Amino acid sequence: MNLLRTMVTNATLLFVLGACTPKTIAPASYTINVRGQIPGDIVEQVDSVLAERVPLIMHQLSASRMPVVEVNLWQDRGEFLEEFGEPAPSVRGFINRDAWQVHVLYLGVPPGLSTLHEYIHLITVAANEADQFTPIWLWESIAIFESKRPPPPGLDRLRCISPDHVPTLQSLNTHPTNIYRVGNLLFEFLLDEWSYDIAAKLIKNGGDIYAVLGISETTFEQLWLDYIISNYDVSMLQSEPENRC
Ligand SMILES: [Zn+2]
Repeated sequence: MNLLRTMVTNATLLFVLGACTPKTIAPASYTINVRGQIPGDIVEQVDSVLAERVPLIMHQLSASRMPVVEVNLWQDRGEFLEEFGEPAPSVRGFINRDAWQVHVLYLGVPPGLSTLHEYIHLITVAANEADQFTPIWLWESIAIFESKRPPPPGLDRLRCISPDHVPTLQSLNTHPTNIYRVGNLLFEFLLDEWSYDIAAKLIKNGGDIYAVLGISETTFEQLWLDYIISNYDVSMLQSEPENRC
């Protein structure tokens, strides 16, 4: 058994010291378990990213209450995958939503933002009071936008977007990887055109565009395309979009 160390967060202290933060935002509440030989400064990097970012994201998504989250940082890939439960070599992080756990594999680069990505999935669960199913396009786009993990590619590298086409939300729910490429751009559009309050309402309504925004998914997708055309140089985009981003 590897070294198991539990570190009680100092998020409360950091929160008190942070200037200009509204009092209504509660500090994040989590523990960090180090599973293996992971340098102390790496653990501190994770702690400081979570302490700084989690409280505001919880507030923005109206997740006012959450159980204490158990963050597990793994050094050994085999043990990490054993915890995951299946051989999936490309998996770098996952959550156990019933146990309020985050699991992240440390691969030599500071994993703070990757940990934040997984943590945001649990914030989404907490914000979803009615326990609605959250569609993948919404579930992942929030986490990718806030954490910038995986790093969002430039628009010119998104092969599934053309000057007259964006992927449908439905296709993003079923394609295995496209949402990881376009999720940042999708959530950026949602926030620019609407707000975090609307994002929180979408979570509470299972991503139902019509129920929350009063427009069809097709109109929403057209507005996303209009947003891209208005805000980015689309002349670099290929005219024939590909299925895979
Ligand atoms: Zn994710």
